[in-house]
Amino acid sequence: MIDLSSKLYRVLFPSVTFSGAGNAVHLTFDDGPHPTATSIVLNILKQFNLKSTFFLLGRQVEQFPELARLIAADGHTIGNHSFSHGNLVFRREGFVRREVTTTNELIFQTCGVKPKLFRPPFGFFDLRTLNIVESLEMRLVHWSNDSRDFESRTTEENIVNLIRRIDKGSIVLLHDNDSTAGKIGTILPTMIRGLQNRGLNFSSLD
Ligand SMILES: [Zn+2]
Repeated sequence: MIDLSSKLYRVLFPSVTFSGAGNAVHLTFDDGPHPTATSIVLNILKQFNLKSTFFLLGRQVEQFPELARLIAADGHTIGNHSFSHGNLVFRREGFVRREVTTTNELIFQTCGVKPKLFRPPFGFFDLRTLNIVESLEMRLVHWSNDSRDFESRTTEENIVNLIRRIDKGSIVLLHDNDSTAGKIGTILPTMIRGLQNRGLNFSSLD
């Protein structure tokens, strides 16, 4: 499937990151920390000895601070995914700013890390959101490949097709949330092995 909105966004918003400059593939996990899915993901990443990026929700960090600390302790990059996962488009400036800054503060208090990356909920953003994020000296990060791991119908075949489309510099969207908790344990190793078989390696976003 061609993501037309993403192509249009690339032209309209050149300062937004849609893919990495280097040779590595960047796996990214949104919506955590999650009471079951996050530990599953962390164990798999440890098993394969690779680093990735987690875009955390403030409300989840508040609920599961130990898991947030675990992500940081394992050496993964921590980004900000807003506090409440509300759509930020056409919202008041104060709301958007609070969603970003409250989560930055929570992450800093919990993990001792100042997030430099922001991924808007659903990937939706407008110029206002971008300006706020950049005024906080953060980078807005989108993705190049959506794994659609949250969809109930995601099959082995979907993953194989996805692996084919991923390349050097790709930023892959995955989730550690309620929708993926039951299957991320099988999807993720399949994906990592498939990409490794293609000679690709991995790194976190910096
Ligand atoms: Zn999300």
